[in-house]
Amino acid sequence: MYTGSCLCGAVRYEIHGDVDHATICWCTMCQKQHGAANGPYANVASSALRIVAGAAGITRYASSPGVERAFCSVCGANLTWQMAEHSSRIAVTLGTFDTPYEGLVTDELHTDSKPGWLP
Ligand SMILES: [Zn+2]
Ligand SMILES: [Zn+2]
Repeated sequence: MYTGSCLCGAVRYEIHGDVDHATICWCTMCQKQHGAANGPYANVASSALRIVAGAAGITRYASSPGVERAFCSVCGANLTWQMAEHSSRIAVTLGTFDTPYEGLVTDELHTDSKPGWLP
């Protein structure tokens, strides 16, 4: 099991299952949402993810048709990314994990929009 939380600690979650794979998304939408070079995600079964605190404080934003991003309404920490079309899966932001993820990122998406300012 993995546990995770947002920056302010209001939202806490548990993942009762394995991380199927981890991805880094370099798309410009992830850059905007994360305020960073990329968005790192752990792909898990939706049924494995349980919000154990602060569910009412989660804001959901449809960043494009059929795609929903969720974040803490207080601190803005990005929590999940999900496609309605594949609702049995959900991508949880690796940066909010409290249990260290021991695996490696296996997929990089939209590498064509990697920013040029990376070291
Ligand atoms: Zn928060
Ligand atoms: Zn992205």
